[in-house]
Amino acid sequence: MAKILVTGGAGYIGSHTCVELLNAGHQVVVLDNLSNSSEESLNRVQALTGKTLDFIQGDIRRAEDLDQVFNTHQIDAVIHFAGLKAVGESQQIPLAYFDNNISGSISLTQAMQRAGVFNLVFSSSATVYDEANTSPLNETMPTAMPTNNYGYTKLIVEQLLEKLSLADPRWSIALLRYFNPVGAHKSGRIGEDPQGIPNNLMPYITQVAVGRREKLSIYGNDYDTVDGTGVRDYIHVVDLANAHLCALTNRLNATGCRAWNIGTGHGSSVLEVKNTFEQVNGVAITFEFAERRAGDVATSYADNSRAISELNWQPQYDLEDMLIDSWNWQKQNPKGYH
Ligand code: NAD
Ligand code: UDP
Repeated sequence: MAKILVTGGAGYIGSHTCVELLNAGHQVVVLDNLSNSSEESLNRVQALTGKTLDFIQGDIRRAEDLDQVFNTHQIDAVIHFAGLKAVGESQQIPLAYFDNNISGSISLTQAMQRAGVFNLVFSSSATVYDEANTSPLNETMPTAMPTNNYGYTKLIVEQLLEKLSLADPRWSIALLRYFNPVGAHKSGRIGEDPQGIPNNLMPYITQVAVGRREKLSIYGNDYDTVDGTGVRDYIHVVDLANAHLCALTNRLNATGCRAWNIGTGHGSSVLEVKNTFEQVNGVAITFEFAERRAGDVATSYADNSRAISELNWQPQYDLEDMLIDSWNWQKQNPKGYH
């Protein structure tokens, strides 16, 4: 069993990953500045698993915070979730994104090097793929600088981690390219709790369902897709969390830097998501069609065969499970953790 530092562990994907790590018998240390989360998620992680974790409120950009963690704990590997993730906001305050996501990742790897820890799993995104690629997207396809600053930070960090591992063979780095994480832990005790108006489809739908938003705007119904609405590869957050455990096992036994797509390999349209949500949960979602959203592609879904064959990972949950679990979380926690 290993001792894992989870940066951003109080957040949506991090908290679910902490549950899976603790259940698998690992020890967990979380470093999070709580800029987009609350400590309550970690209280619930501990209640759910019946196990304790160490929490340090601190910032990955601060060497002192990182050194404190590495000096206090014998860390075997790091799972790096910490960062900012709102595409629209990244256009308004690019420096905050460059600072948290790029400088933060550099400062983290510097501290890891000081401490002699070289195993890292990084949260990347399908947004790094060149939009000219046709789905299913596989890891050998070209990447391209994304048009938004958030995506830009993900590709920059991928590239600098790759160069780091080329320069120093002690590094072993997994780049996990997430498709669209949704869903929540089966208990409904932890889930996604976005601040303000949600950017993403799933929290928007659940907030309409719970009465916090009036109606869903579906961005575009004239795409070249099955029903004109955008197609994405939704992946249950628990399957995604487990992919991190598989990547850790892989990286503790290898060197170099390698990317894996984490998706189901299946695309669903916005209308299919909305209609299936209504059907499995028995809740109506008021909606309207709106203009296409700038920067959106028609279709994006994964070829996940590399993760399945190399990481010994297999997604367990389908779209219905994701929608049932998202709603279970939201209806139990209409205001999130607050
Ligand atoms: P989240 O906002 O819920 O979690 C991120 C956590 O990092 C938060 O708890 C936040 O407080 C913390 N944090 C932010 N800046 C920090 C800093 N400088 N120092 C310490 N802690 C800091 O987001 P999430 O959805 O759980 O995403 C986790 C990671 O996965 C992010 O890197 C995100 O970019 C990436 N990702 C997310 C998605 C998605 O759709 N959710 C898709 C692809 C990639
Ligand atoms: N979408 C939508 N209305 C919303 C939010 C999203 O129609 O309020 C659509 C969006 O255009 C895309 C899909 O839902 O086709 C998934 O968008 P999301 O922002 O969740 O993820 P993305 O794939 O853009 O990262």
